[in-house]
Amino acid sequence: DLGDLFISVMEKPVKPPRLLAAIQEGLGVERSFISNTPIDTEELLLADEFPLNILVAEDNFINQKLILTVLRKMGYMPSLANNGLEAVSICRDNKVDLIFMDLQMPEMDGLEACQKIQGEHGDESPVIVALTAFAMKEDRERCLAAGMQEHISKPFRTEEIEQVIRTFT
Ligand code: MN
Repeated sequence: DLGDLFISVMEKPVKPPRLLAAIQEGLGVERSFISNTPIDTEELLLADEFPLNILVAEDNFINQKLILTVLRKMGYMPSLANNGLEAVSICRDNKVDLIFMDLQMPEMDGLEACQKIQGEHGDESPVIVALTAFAMKEDRERCLAAGMQEHISKPFRTEEIEQVIRTFT
């Protein structure tokens, strides 16, 4: 019997509270101590505070992974468009509150997609934030002139994404 060999036997996936409990049990720590220990999973996520439907429009696989991972950690379940044309189409069929939009994409670029979406949705348009490799002042101005609310240059910091969510939604 495995139970004779090990202090605790657990099945994967192991949830952090269960793992913590097993470790503390193994170390002989009182159970009352366990319940007083703050656990990460109980922290308030940004998505709880600001519930939003977020769309990521990005053609680069690595960049897709990066931004999607950051947003999921905040508790969001973002949709993904691989180019501007897909972004326009997703906005027609779904309620989107916020778009993180790459500029250079095949089929339709970010600036054109932004203008198309705002043309179709008017006052109901999602907030559109450029997420681009261009860090020049002119590029930022170009994005704002096209109707985007903000411009974040890549590589972005998680705090910049959070700031946008807190400021524009
Ligand atoms: Mn691109």
